[in-house]
Amino acid sequence: MANRIVIIGGGFGGLACAKELGNADYLVTVIDRRNHNLFQPLLYQVATAALSPADIAEPIRKTLGRYRNINMLLAEVVGIDPSAKHVLLDHGGTVEYDRLVIATGSDYNYFGRDDWRPFAPGMKTLHEARLVRQRLLLSFEQAERTNDRDEQRDLLTFVVIGGGPTGVEMAGAISELGRFMIDRDFRNLQAEQFRVILLEAGPGLLAAFPEKLSSYAADYLERIGVQVRVGERVLNVTSQGVQLQSEFSTTGCVVWGAGVKPSPASKWLGLTEDRAGRIPVNANLRVTGLDEIYALGDTALTVGTNGRPLPGLAQVAKQQGIYLGRY
Ligand SMILES: Cc1cc2nc3c(=O)[nH]c(=O)nc-3n(C[C@H](O)[C@H](O)[C@H](O)COP(=O)(O)OP(=O)(O)OC[C@H]3O[C@@H](n4cnc5c(N)ncnc54)[C@H](O)[C@@H]3O)c2cc1C
Repeated sequence: MANRIVIIGGGFGGLACAKELGNADYLVTVIDRRNHNLFQPLLYQVATAALSPADIAEPIRKTLGRYRNINMLLAEVVGIDPSAKHVLLDHGGTVEYDRLVIATGSDYNYFGRDDWRPFAPGMKTLHEARLVRQRLLLSFEQAERTNDRDEQRDLLTFVVIGGGPTGVEMAGAISELGRFMIDRDFRNLQAEQFRVILLEAGPGLLAAFPEKLSSYAADYLERIGVQVRVGERVLNVTSQGVQLQSEFSTTGCVVWGAGVKPSPASKWLGLTEDRAGRIPVNANLRVTGLDEIYALGDTALTVGTNGRPLPGLAQVAKQQGIYLGRY
């Protein structure tokens, strides 16, 4: 019997697994680099000032505190040694396991241009949501202070890069917020100066969804004032704005939503089969070829009954966590 179960990641999947193991006959350690579990689907609302950060984050210790067999460790995992059966922590320590669960999620993919990230934050952490919120609100304030119409127009230009779910939702939310604020809170700004531009390099929005939904999303966004530009490739992002093939767009704020990549956990295990970098697992979520190591959620490559990989969704991670906790 595995006595010590280590779960890396206290997100949707890791916490669901831990809760199932609560008060069971195991010693469980949950390791996370953050002290809180984040309800990522509501990060947009924090970024657009509809919710405050505390509304969507709960301390992991609070969630798991009632289970006396579960310990939480605030640390960043930087590697796994399957032969020694321990995980390596950033400060040099190790944590031994009899059974390991990897639930480290995913991150935004900047396709080799991580230097763009400070100018175009994604929507993955509270820090990024707060940064977007601050830039959005400050742009309106700066625009209100000047009477230079060109400067106002630049400050009131908001660019969202990537026409997937994050980009679509973010562009819509900024558009609604901006129009509402100009109408109610600002006296020196006009709605015509305010622009939200959604850029997508591919031929349409929401590529993973049926064509009907993709065109519905584009039509709806246009109706609420978003300029949807498909087939538009971003060449550079700077502190001033976004370089496109035909123009440089000076902006008040840029948001990134152009693709996700799994956590680097597959590299820790030396696995290279999946080009996207996910960890291949069997139907029981055991990592292919490794004993007592399991993976779930966004970082795992789980093939569904239709032969296609399961999508990176909270529901998938939660269900897998519950399954593994009972397994
Ligand atoms: C903006 C946004 C909106 C979304 N909207 C929806 C939605 O509407 N519906 C839906 O179903 N899904 C949505 N998702 C996707 C959903 O959030 C993910 O599929 C889900 O969080 C995956 O769960 P997970 O447990 O695999 O990873 P996560 O929930 O991301 O948890 C991973 C955990 O691992 C920790 N971690 C990572 N690396 C390390 C390390 N090296 N050391 C220690 N700890 C580490 C992280 O801190 C984190 O707590 C959204 C995602 C985003 C970003």
